[in-house]
Amino acid sequence: MDLHRHDECSSFDGYGKASELAKLAKELGHTALGISNHGNTNGLVQHYLACKENGIKPVLGCEGYFLPKYKEQHRGYHLCLFAKNKVGYHNLNALQYEGEKQKYYNPIWTFELLEKYHEGLICTSACIAGYLSQCLKEDKLSQAEKYIKKMVEIFGDDFYIEIQPYKISEPNLQEMVNVKAIKLARKLKVKCVLTSDSHRGRKEDFPTYLKMHEVAGHDLNHIEETYKERYMPSDSELYKRFVKMHKKDFKESTESIGKRMILNLKEIEDKCVEDIFKDYEEILPKYSDDSEKLLKSKIKKGLEEKGKWNKKYQERVKQEFNVIKTLGFHDYFLIVADYVNWAKEHGINVGPGRGSACNCLIAYALGITEVDSLLFGLDFRRFLREDKKKLPDIDIDFETSRRHEVIDYVINKYKGHTARIASYGLYKVDNLINDLAKVCGLPTDKSIDETEVRNNKKEIADIKKLCNKYIDEDGKLDKESLLCSREAKLYNSQYDDIITHFTKLYFKMRFIGTHAAGVAVTGGDILDYTALRIDKNGNIYTNYDLNDMENIGVVKFDMLGLGTMEELGELKGVTGSNPIYDEIVVDEKIIDNFNKGNTIGVFQFDKKAVRDILIKINCNCFDDIIAANAMNRPGPLSLHMPEAYAENKINIDEAKQSLYYDYTKESYGTVIYQEQIQQICVYIGGMSWGDADKVMKMIGGQSQSEDAKAEFERNKKELHDKFVKGAIKNGLTKQQAEEMFNTMLVYSFNKGHACGYSLISVKEMYYKTYFPTEFWFAKIKYAPNEDDYDKFCSYATKDGCVVFLPHINYSNERMRIRKVEGENCLQRGLSEIKGVGEKAAKEIVEERKRNGIFTSYDNFYDRCKSRVVNEKVIRLIKEYGASEFDKNIYIKRVTKYNSSLIGRDFK
Ligand SMILES: [Zn+2]
Ligand SMILES: [Zn+2]
Repeated sequence: MDLHRHDECSSFDGYGKASELAKLAKELGHTALGISNHGNTNGLVQHYLACKENGIKPVLGCEGYFLPKYKEQHRGYHLCLFAKNKVGYHNLNALQYEGEKQKYYNPIWTFELLEKYHEGLICTSACIAGYLSQCLKEDKLSQAEKYIKKMVEIFGDDFYIEIQPYKISEPNLQEMVNVKAIKLARKLKVKCVLTSDSHRGRKEDFPTYLKMHEVAGHDLNHIEETYKERYMPSDSELYKRFVKMHKKDFKESTESIGKRMILNLKEIEDKCVEDIFKDYEEILPKYSDDSEKLLKSKIKKGLEEKGKWNKKYQERVKQEFNVIKTLGFHDYFLIVADYVNWAKEHGINVGPGRGSACNCLIAYALGITEVDSLLFGLDFRRFLREDKKKLPDIDIDFETSRRHEVIDYVINKYKGHTARIASYGLYKVDNLINDLAKVCGLPTDKSIDETEVRNNKKEIADIKKLCNKYIDEDGKLDKESLLCSREAKLYNSQYDDIITHFTKLYFKMRFIGTHAAGVAVTGGDILDYTALRIDKNGNIYTNYDLNDMENIGVVKFDMLGLGTMEELGELKGVTGSNPIYDEIVVDEKIIDNFNKGNTIGVFQFDKKAVRDILIKINCNCFDDIIAANAMNRPGPLSLHMPEAYAENKINIDEAKQSLYYDYTKESYGTVIYQEQIQQICVYIGGMSWGDADKVMKMIGGQSQSEDAKAEFERNKKELHDKFVKGAIKNGLTKQQAEEMFNTMLVYSFNKGHACGYSLISVKEMYYKTYFPTEFWFAKIKYAPNEDDYDKFCSYATKDGCVVFLPHINYSNERMRIRKVEGENCLQRGLSEIKGVGEKAAKEIVEERKRNGIFTSYDNFYDRCKSRVVNEKVIRLIKEYGASEFDKNIYIKRVTKYNSSLIGRDFK
């Protein structure tokens, strides 16, 4: 076994992905493979899965940083720990987390911590940078002895001394340390193991490995000498290296010492269990002692408050509840409802719902969504079924600027069971070529002159373009074709094999980042699942990313940020109006605005393409709005789906003849939604719901790599045959069945999601219709860039608003709503005058607020002239007319400005 070993998770020091390395280990005849990255456990899940995939035993560990006693500003000595079992894995995580609290670059382990968390762990003395090696190097034999004795006291038989048969940059040092260590081990009856401390898989990847160090600015001479041979060895290579290195160093034959050390590796392998992550499944903390009862009462209370606790709703709730009960998901719903309602109670604006959670009436009853799935005809089975078994995703939109409050709430509420989630920053074309360019002869920094910088930048852009040409939509790189291309060969010869290095580093780990939206929640102690990292703000993060967490059965909650929620919160505030969705979806004035395509500024209905759809389909009800939203994607547009929809709507009698009309009534017989496809598959094709899911997921999945394509075609054929067979049984002809299957495969969209998002649109339209000034005020306030102000002002005037130009007596720094003769108007801000700036505008406004309006230009000049409001600013204000004291002139200018705005066309 290659025990002490690094991969890409040792940042800029290890090379190779878990999947490649496990495969290689298998090829080399290893039956197990260790992992021990520097100071982190990031790669453990991927290592575990890759080993399982290749039929070898994963040994999970970490090469951490050790100090006998904590000292400030000391990086610590290397030390390796490996988990024998679940207890050991927990303790490794606990050591990393406790070590984080006293970290210096990396978590620091001390004797005290090791004593506390040693159970289930194997400890090995690590490399030349280990404490033992350093004692031996300085010939502090009694200190070394004391250290070993202490380790044996803690770990017993599970402490091993590492012997690394590799030369390092300091001549003869490793050899000398090895000899002393073996002698000491014999004296103290401690076992030794041979380790490689390999930092890559294959020998031939050395040039790329070096490049990686060069990118990080490491000392290449040292790396070259110490790591040249540190690729993954077979057991026999390790053994031979040892024998060669220490031929005559011992009384006993070197061969028998070497053999014993290989056997000791096997002993470690046998001590470790195969399946540390086995039986991990999605478990959540218990929300209450009787979650079932609590959930029931909350559902009832919720629907009663909405005035909907009637027979029809009760019937649907009962169906949904039975599924949730069978699956045991009570706590999940209670936990989500708890933080969503907490957010609402604390004035954080929450989206009405997204994804298939909109299809769940219980989610509506609990306040998780505002989507009444019964009212909008949304099928629960798209969201959850007894045969689905996996926890559903309930993603929630929160106003972006306050989302972190919700995350903090969940973290604090389930302390010890939660953490924010890490994300792996991988090398993509941009960051990789940028990194490589610096060390492959294409610098763009101050070391070279400007012309050269320009040339190099152009060359870099061209190289990126070339690389991108060989990457498909899923990000998969076609290495061979890229390397064979004429351009690649040219670039390689000119720039130090830049393309070769690119192909080897593409998609490898570059840094560990954080995932903004996710929170992991575990049933048991979170340290049973993952080690934790603490950032400089004290936030706790998992060591794994979303994918890894999912693979070991950790539930995550997604709290997404949506800017529109901020606007809607503002609108609620300035208008004092917040209508319920049930009413506005049938409001004639609102629907009429959709019908006319008067949707500029409205969430998801702003662009021309979708306005055209609304007009085309003669949108006159909320169902049409949902359909327009769902069809506003490149697929259905290129297929002329809106035209078909419109036609069916007009020729409804003809549309009714369609064999699947019963399942597509809401869209006049046009297949648009995933929910419809599921029903057609089940009720016409006689398929199982599971197969119906597969058909649904198939749609839009055609563009993939060659292998995936073949697999896709096989699956498609299988599902096609099932459908056709079932449909014939249900009375269709073969041709009809085949036609139907092919029609379905064209396009589909989750109706629940389209419905939830269309509710946001309708809410926006409510404000645009009844409070246009406030609507455009909110749009402008939250506009991402100031260049949009003019455009938005123009739209506002078209909606009947009056926009006043900046004026020292009326304006604030930025746009505000001002009442003029009883009407709300938009008053542009002083800082919008080019060259005036926020600071000067603020001073003027503050002076006016302190000492009253300005009575004349001179009065303004005398009161405001300062270092910030300087002559230039005052001149600009005057030239702009913002210090005009003749009211008639100002009003005339405003009138002229407004009619010019109405006349302008931006789209
Ligand atoms: Zn080391
Ligand atoms: Zn190491």
